[in-house]
Amino acid sequence: MAISTIFQKIINKEIPANIHYEDELCIAFDDIRPQAPVHILLIPKKEISSHREVGEDDQSLMGHLIVKAKEIALKQGLKEGWRLVVNTGNDGGQTVYHIHIHILGGRPMKWPPG
Ligand code: AMP
Repeated sequence: MAISTIFQKIINKEIPANIHYEDELCIAFDDIRPQAPVHILLIPKKEISSHREVGEDDQSLMGHLIVKAKEIALKQGLKEGWRLVVNTGNDGGQTVYHIHIHILGGRPMKWPPG
């Protein structure tokens, strides 16, 4: 079990967020410090601290997130494409230890990401 984070408070509606999508498994909301015109975080309601902790039991949940990320990106009108990012651990630049997919779009993305 992960230690509860600020994202758990968003799931519990204890702090505000601009929510774009929610179902029984996941919730998507605007990043508070957007790095692109569209910057949405999609998180499972299950407390998984990082990609490192994803297990065999999470296969269908992770697939669900990938499908919903596509739907959210298309609903945002990102016809030219988008980028999904899952920062993991210190080297990955992770700051909130509740696994999340960044959905970034609305401008061309650079590579390498830095
Ligand atoms: P990461 O660095 O990959 O762990 O991403 C964490 C993200 O959470 C950062 O992009 C933050 O801007 C974002 N963030 C932190 N607190 C909040 C919050 N209360 N509401 C929305 N986004 C947040």
